[in-house]
Parts: sequence; C-alpha cells; structure tokens
Amino acid sequence: MDSRFLRHLSGLGCLIALVGALAIPAAAQQTASSQQAGTPGEGPKLYVFTSGSLGGFPKAALQIGATGNIDWAPVSFYVIKHPKGNVIFDTGNNDKTITDPDGWWGPLAKGFGLKMTKDDAIPVQLAKIGLKVDDIKYVAVGHLHLDHGGNVGQFKNSTLIAQDDEFKAAWWPDVGYSLYYIPGDFAETKNMKTIRLNGDFDLFNDGSVRLIRAPGHTPGSQFMVVKLPKTGTAILTSDVVYLTESLDKNLIPPIPGTWSPSDAYRSYDRIRHIRDVENAKLFIGHDPELFKAAKKAPEFYD
Ligand SMILES: [Zn+2]
Repeated sequence: MDSRFLRHLSGLGCLIALVGALAIPAAAQQTASSQQAGTPGEGPKLYVFTSGSLGGFPKAALQIGATGNIDWAPVSFYVIKHPKGNVIFDTGNNDKTITDPDGWWGPLAKGFGLKMTKDDAIPVQLAKIGLKVDDIKYVAVGHLHLDHGGNVGQFKNSTLIAQDDEFKAAWWPDVGYSLYYIPGDFAETKNMKTIRLNGDFDLFNDGSVRLIRAPGHTPGSQFMVVKLPKTGTAILTSDVVYLTESLDKNLIPPIPGTWSPSDAYRSYDRIRHIRDVENAKLFIGHDPELFKAAKKAPEFYD
C-alpha cells in the first residue's frame, strides 16, 4: 500500500467523521420535531374517528339487489400514532361541507343525507388525541372519493400515499365514474409530496403499517393493515368493502360504486385471506354496527 493511498484513506476517514458530526444535529432535530409522534419503543396506537355521518339513502347504493334504507352510516377515518411517524388513513368529508354541503357536494349532499358539524373539522378531531395537522407525517387514502379524500389538501406538509391509478382516476376519471370525485378536494395534491404505488407497500418496512392494493371499487383502491402489540392485526377496509354483510354474502356495489366487478371480487378475497391467516379484526368504514361497537377516539386500540 503506497503512502498516497494511505493519505487518501485518512482523508476518507475525515470525511466519514465529518458526515458523522453533521448527522448528530440532524438526528437531534428530528427528535425535537417529532415530539408528537408515538413514544419511541412503544408500539403503535390506532384511533377511530368519523367525519360526520351519512344516512337516509337506499341500501342498494352500497349493495347490489339490497332493499330498504341505510338510516345512519359513519364516514370512518383513522389515525395511527406510530413511533416512526403518525399516519392518517382516509380523511373524511371536506371541512367546507360543514358550512356549505350543497355547494361542495351538489345533489349528493341531500342524496346521501350528509351531516357535518364544526366538531367534525379535521383540526378539532385531531385535537381530541393531542395532535395538529402538521403532526401527521403520512396521509394514506383508500381512494380519492369525496368521503375519503375530502381533506387531503389540509395536510400540506405531509406525504400523500395512494395508488398511482387512483391519482389518474381522480384527475381524469373514466366516463361514467366521475360522480364521487370532487376536483376541489384533491386540487392541492399537485403541490404535495407523494408516494405513488403500483402494488402493496410496507410503510415502515417492519410490517406494522401495510397498504394492500385492492382495485374494484375504484381503479386505485387500497386497504390498510396495521399490526398492533395487543390487538393483533387490524384491517382498515376503506371502501374496498362497504358492509360486513357484503363481504359475507359476496355482494358488491352497483356502478358507479364498482369500477371493475372482477377486481372487486378478487379484492374481497384478499381481505378474507388476510383476515383468516392473521385472525384480523375488521374495521369496515361505512358499517354502522361495527362502528358503534368500536372504541372511538380518544380511546384507542394498542
Ligand atoms: Zn366511502
């Protein structure tokens, strides 16, 4: 080994030391800015919310061939306080519907019996568990329909995670499938950091928060699987499934609530498979009975 190479090596050593020194303040800074994240070393916690409610619409809108009405249905969204960064899954109805439901949703507001109060606003809801909008690191959506992607634009400093197909479906919907997309809901997504998926994704690479691609309801639908230390596996279906009964009887929604029937049935199978293999607890976003029985924020599942 000649001396020139040794000098080069020692230079490299200096560089490594310098990078190490620079890395310390960066790490310290990160700790300071993530004070609101779950405590390091503690497992994740799952919080269940509803963004107002829907009700008084035909059950046939959710399930082919159904009779009667849905009197009341939640619009579930979820927060996972996680030591590696807080996550929100789905974001409910746009807060603008609190004061202007007909202006923002058009005929769908009355059609689905939309009810929102000022206590349903995203900042008020997050405050129940001691968080602010900027404490959310990742915003994941099951899809970008109006009752799921409604508030993505409020999370300007977060990273939005959706299937690439869903961005395309929202911005440029197929003819006949634009009804449930409101461009004002997701206008801000062009200015946000995004992770665009084309498949499944293990967010923290530790199995604790997974997104599973499950098209059918929309081209880029996905559901979330959360692994909790005590509760075990929780499946947050978003609209991959509307009602427990729909999954049990293998009944899908009619068009435009189903974009691809064959994909929708396959996506039901993916949920059943994970449910059965991991003995998972199901959180079905619009299912009234499941929601009523669930612990609601500020209570949590750990
Ligand atoms: Zn929905």
